Amino acid sequence: MMRVAKIITCILAVLSAAAAQQPSVQKHPQNKRIVIAASVMLDGKGRVLHDTRIVIEGSRIVAIDPKAAPVDYDLRALTVLPGWIDAHVHLAWFFAENGKLAGGDATPAERTYGAVSNAWAMLMAGFTTVQSVGSPADVPLRDAIAHGLLPGPRILTSAEPLTGRGEQTGTPDEIRAFVRKQKEAGADLIKIYASGGMRQGGMTLSPEQLNAACDEARKQGLRTLVHAFREAVRAATVAGCTEIEHGLGATDEDLKLMAEKGTYFDPQGGLLIETYLLNADKYAGTPFFPKTADGFAPMKDILPMMHELMRRAAKTPGLKIVFGTDAVAGAHGHNAEDFIDRVRDAGVDPMAAMVSANSLAAEALGMADQIGSIGPGLQADIIALDGDPRNDITAVRRVVFVMKGGVVYKNVARENHPLALSR
Ligand SMILES: [Zn+2]
Repeated sequence: MMRVAKIITCILAVLSAAAAQQPSVQKHPQNKRIVIAASVMLDGKGRVLHDTRIVIEGSRIVAIDPKAAPVDYDLRALTVLPGWIDAHVHLAWFFAENGKLAGGDATPAERTYGAVSNAWAMLMAGFTTVQSVGSPADVPLRDAIAHGLLPGPRILTSAEPLTGRGEQTGTPDEIRAFVRKQKEAGADLIKIYASGGMRQGGMTLSPEQLNAACDEARKQGLRTLVHAFREAVRAATVAGCTEIEHGLGATDEDLKLMAEKGTYFDPQGGLLIETYLLNADKYAGTPFFPKTADGFAPMKDILPMMHELMRRAAKTPGLKIVFGTDAVAGAHGHNAEDFIDRVRDAGVDPMAAMVSANSLAAEALGMADQIGSIGPGLQADIIALDGDPRNDITAVRRVVFVMKGGVVYKNVARENHPLALSR
């Protein structure tokens, strides 16, 4: 979303200092062998395996072996799949103590706990990797989680985004310098705002500026995610940027061009708007939002626009649609609702929806050899659902088991599912 992430600047020094004194939550005996039994396993690439077992050593999967024993986690009553990836979240957005969207007056400690709690909520909801687009405050949180100081999803972040403001954004050379600065600050990718809002507004970066940003990022080995509507979709595709976010107003020709060029596309299914409508009182009167809760009603009209775009995108041959929710305050931990929107409201095939948050999202992140599928050599990011999303997409709400990097963070399967105990 356009509401600039700059609200959140400093943070997490508090966190790093405190966390350094805590015992690691990820400590586990190196190479301890874990076996998971599954009756239905989605491999993350669109295939289904039946009656098999996953063997894990340390943080990685070492084998898929139906005969492996003894079984440590019997998930046979559930659907087992790779941990999900959300390619577009805003970790730094949270509701403050007064019930309103937190703004510039939030204290560093409040911001820290806001982001940490968002991270925790998403992990518990089955998201083992998220891409935050982004805030400089994400960097120390990313590192704290990676070092095992806190539970949370694997985080990738843009640090500070490049916000298009026409000529004021800078010359192509200045934009290139900004990109290099983000890399130095620890960014995993570059987030670029290249156009105005969902309903109206033209491009906020010229084609030359956009070219400079995406070209420099490529030279620095970084991916580019471009917030784009209408004509900005084509411009970002032509500029060779990695992934287009949102995309309302994209024509069939634009979608086709993205497919031809291998540009990833990250449209949303509706969770974003549902979150604003559901939390209108918390957003009302904060900068960039309507003054009153009633003022949010017209946003409802955007939902059918999103569904129409998603439907067209899904029908575009070869278009690589990545799962990204644009999770803002109130949406973290509910990310999976966007699967339901896609399948129920936009006719997306349930398996395609799963793959978009597994192997395809991993590929878009340049991490297909590490996450997004279940197979030997990959990180042991494994979740289990009570139900099968292929015939009941609401099963994505019932995440009862979460393992990330070989560590189990959630396992309520046994209490809730007596069937899981029978052999
Ligand atoms: Zn966003």
